[in-house]
Amino acid sequence: MNTKSRRRPLIAGNWKMNGLSHSLAELALIAKGLDELDDELEALICPPATLIGAASAHVRNTRLIIGAQDCSSDVEGAFTGDVSAAMIADSGARYVILGHSERRQGRGESNIDILQKVERGLSAKIGVIVCVGETEQQMAERRTEQVLRAQLLESVPPDVNCSAVTIAYEPVWAIGTGRVPTPARIADVHASVRETISDRFGQAGEEIRILYGGSVKPENAREISATPNVDGVLVGGASLKARDFLSISEAFAVR
Ligand code: PEP
Repeated sequence: MNTKSRRRPLIAGNWKMNGLSHSLAELALIAKGLDELDDELEALICPPATLIGAASAHVRNTRLIIGAQDCSSDVEGAFTGDVSAAMIADSGARYVILGHSERRQGRGESNIDILQKVERGLSAKIGVIVCVGETEQQMAERRTEQVLRAQLLESVPPDVNCSAVTIAYEPVWAIGTGRVPTPARIADVHASVRETISDRFGQAGEEIRILYGGSVKPENAREISATPNVDGVLVGGASLKARDFLSISEAFAVR
């Protein structure tokens, strides 16, 4: 079966709250390694906000692009400590991850908060990667598809430019745990996400990529890359090491 979609694969790394200025050397290694891979691939690292500017300068004129892990739902003003979408874009971010479960669950973000952030990101002319995913309990209750549909419909506005939107399916129970759904399950869930996208956006929604995220490692990347309906991956822990991130990217380059 030819599982290669016509959407350009996106390999996105989320460094979370890890990385100091010396970590820029790791980015240089990633950028160098990417030169040897398939041009079709898009590779992104989202370091902490403090490193976006330096990271963007460090990898300028390479294939590696830099993004952010979050942005404010407000435009500007008296919001001490917040960072706006315009600010991250101005620092060099080309994408922003929104609605990660560590923000939905850990910081109490609602679908409405995320929808506002999506609007801010798109107004700042950067791509948005909107994360959706079920908890272990929701999975046990066989509510995964229903939960994802609600998250998607409530956190992505109906009138978006689809070419700037990416969805990441990240089962909460798979993040940082070493547990991963079977490829067949990933394919089925992605198919149902695709159906929701298509109901909402029609043909334009075909441009929206659906990434899988949750314990992606060099050891399972080949299998995930060959899974139908997967347009790339969102990688946490394994994106911190150039060797691992490149090995995952390679799996998507050769599929
Ligand atoms: C993530 O945090 O988005 C993630 C997928 O983490 P990990 O790859 O470490 O499970």
